[in-house]
Amino acid sequence: QFPFGRRLPCDIYWHGVSFHDNNIFSGQVNKFPGMMETVRKITLSRAMRTMQDLFPLEYNFYPRSWILPEELPLFVSEVRRMKDSDPSWKPTFIVKPDGGCQGDGIYLIKDPSDIRLTGSIQSRPAVVQEYICKPLLVDKLKFDIRLYVLLKSLEPLEIYIAKDGLSRFCTEPYQEPTLKNLHQVFMHLTNYSLNIHSGNFIHSDSVNTGSKRTFSSILCRLSSRGADVKKLWSDIISLVIKTIIALTPELKVYYQSDIPAGKPGPTCFQILGFDILLMKNLKPVLLEVNANPSMRIEHEQELSPGVFENVPSPVDEEVKVAVIRDTLRLVDPQKKKRKDTQLIYDYSYFSLHHCKKCCYSSVLQAGMKDKQHKHHSLKLSLKLKFYLKLGSCQSLEQVLEVSEELPDAGPAVRPEPDAPRGPEAALPSLCLKQVFPKYAKQFSYLRLVDRVAALFIRFLGVKGTTKLGPTGFRTFIRNCKLSNSNFSMAAVDILYIDITRRWNSMGIDHKESGMCLQAFVEAFFCLAQKKYKSLPLHEQVASLIEFCECHLAALHGKRLVWGCG
Ligand code: ADP
Repeated sequence: QFPFGRRLPCDIYWHGVSFHDNNIFSGQVNKFPGMMETVRKITLSRAMRTMQDLFPLEYNFYPRSWILPEELPLFVSEVRRMKDSDPSWKPTFIVKPDGGCQGDGIYLIKDPSDIRLTGSIQSRPAVVQEYICKPLLVDKLKFDIRLYVLLKSLEPLEIYIAKDGLSRFCTEPYQEPTLKNLHQVFMHLTNYSLNIHSGNFIHSDSVNTGSKRTFSSILCRLSSRGADVKKLWSDIISLVIKTIIALTPELKVYYQSDIPAGKPGPTCFQILGFDILLMKNLKPVLLEVNANPSMRIEHEQELSPGVFENVPSPVDEEVKVAVIRDTLRLVDPQKKKRKDTQLIYDYSYFSLHHCKKCCYSSVLQAGMKDKQHKHHSLKLSLKLKFYLKLGSCQSLEQVLEVSEELPDAGPAVRPEPDAPRGPEAALPSLCLKQVFPKYAKQFSYLRLVDRVAALFIRFLGVKGTTKLGPTGFRTFIRNCKLSNSNFSMAAVDILYIDITRRWNSMGIDHKESGMCLQAFVEAFFCLAQKKYKSLPLHEQVASLIEFCECHLAALHGKRLVWGCG
């Protein structure tokens, strides 16, 4: 820990809250720039809406949502229309303040007119969302699942999911929402931070009882009741991959702005907390994504009124320790180097076996042919063997360093054939399962907005920005040959001004002027609809992307030819 500032470069930087250090030029940071902003309730809802517009069936795991205050009229009119078309529909909605957490400020309503239009909506924007009225119950209680997901890399996309998670239970038996029970948070909200204050909260040392349990214990129970838990897992994996696909475009814009390509900088990874609710029919629904999930493995216990003590929480420990341990194993900077060492290990074993001279000779053969051969002392061989056995021999350099300490040879000791090959051998198998690129093929067609974002980033121009200026937008239109007699450059400017002004009036980020990614995506969809009228939206967008990519590739080719000339 460096509470007063850091002086040395590190392999891994473990930041507490967000990516916030511009003075890191190498290594890996456990946070992505912009992740906090990207998973805020409003930004997440917008990203999901974009994907729902393109792929409504694939993204139906996210409840229908509206952004307040700007979409209040839309919310009112859509609900009225749906009620008119189906009078038996008696919905409930949940209002969640943007940037809130731990259930803070959340309330349920039965009708759009119940939204609390006090000053708070203006000063604190929110998301209003369809409430899932029929959740799966266990022991008559509503619960949700917290799953840990490692975003190991953005480019190329690499995602891992923890094989086990937490199930957090309500503390009052569930009833479908009525005007009478709407305000009963212990019945409707599964937040641990709320339910811990209920007299009914049960701390348990067992992973399959109490108010917080492992998700695997729930799966066991469901499986014993005959539920298809394999299908449930595959639905959850697909929910996670699709959600991250929805988030990556925005993240890439932040990434290139904070860590410009071609300049020294760290790489990033991040553990995310996915909150998922299971419906009665076992369909998983995404509630939210946490950029900074709690990794506490203890809970507070009130010993006597007002006197609290931290006590270990076996359920948290079981799940979270494995997540952190395996994240470190996956991002371990020594891992690659250790693979090199393993080669030396194999090679030195071979040499020792045959010439009985020393490890040093094998190291020489492996990489230092021009160095003079020297014999080892027993001490050196033992030390080298020790390093190799432990796998803590971190690099070729380190092996050589050890080799050069002691020039005089003695008989080398042959490593036992069953010696553990690296520190991995002593650890349990990984709890983090790779799901992407493993299942990339099935999902690649969904990555359209990613390609739109790549176009956006290409025209951002000066590095370090997240917004596109009017000149950048014009260059995009010109280079992609999108303007013609039906769509003049004057119309291009009007489109830019209209969309940018609207997005900036409702945006949270007023620091920079210009067109944000979401506004560019809207403009892009608009152009696609104009150009390819009769197709479904995702085909319109895909066609326009191909059209643009093709023109840019041709332009790039021409430039290369001009350059050669
Ligand atoms: P917070 O960040 O404040 O925890 P969440 O979006 O996680 O906000 O919502 C808090 C709780 O409310 C969830 O844990 C869940 O129990 C409940 N909840 C949230 N959204 C819905 C929904 N659409 N349908 C049913 N329950 C929900």
